[in-house]
Amino acid sequence: MNFLLVTDLDNTLVGEDTTLLRLNQKLLANRDRLYLIYATGRSYALARQLQEEQNLIEPDYWLTGVGTEIYRKDERDPEWAERLSQDWNRDSVAAIASGFPDLILQPETEQNPWKLSFLIDSERADTVLANLQALITQAGLRAQIIFSNDEDVDILPKNGDKGLAMTYLREKLGIPPEKTLVCGDSGNDISLFQQNTLGLIVSNSRSELLAWYRLCGESRHYRSRARFAGGILEAIDHFKLMPPSE
Ligand SMILES: [Mg+2]
Repeated sequence: MNFLLVTDLDNTLVGEDTTLLRLNQKLLANRDRLYLIYATGRSYALARQLQEEQNLIEPDYWLTGVGTEIYRKDERDPEWAERLSQDWNRDSVAAIASGFPDLILQPETEQNPWKLSFLIDSERADTVLANLQALITQAGLRAQIIFSNDEDVDILPKNGDKGLAMTYLREKLGIPPEKTLVCGDSGNDISLFQQNTLGLIVSNSRSELLAWYRLCGESRHYRSRARFAGGILEAIDHFKLMPPSE
């Protein structure tokens, strides 16, 4: 395999039909030279639903629930589940979170054994999440809080997020970091960019990712001019990962 493409779904791969179609054609034409991984905050069921609605091509792997689950075909990776279960106490995290009335629990479909998901008013997020993190740390719990899209709050095991799940698979597949491109638009994609691969920040990215990029962005990170899948096409050319687009 020549390279590995890891992309977020909502507002990165998906968002603009014309460029998505062009990218899909390019990926299909090069399908035997690349591994494709979708990395999303969605559950596996809702990610499959989006695949059907948007005619997304079949990836090699799915990282769902912000990287808390890895699927190949319809099978969940048991080794990853085992890793995340170490040092993870969901009930204790849930008990602490229940003390914050600003955190509104998301539907049951978006919860999983390694993820608690809430909604929050963006104006309250900074204060509430700082207090929540302090209590989690005080309790000695190994959990991380991820804030995305100005409203989504995910609490995950410390040893599992999109970035760590991506690296776990990248190493398994034997693709070097300089032949790996990760693409995203929001806060739950930051962990992807914190690993050592190439990265694309699409031009339509959310404020929390742009703020991170201004502070921590490196030369291996590319901010495209184009939006959504157009940005991915632009980054593939920029990093010369495939023959140039016509
Ligand atoms: Mg997104």
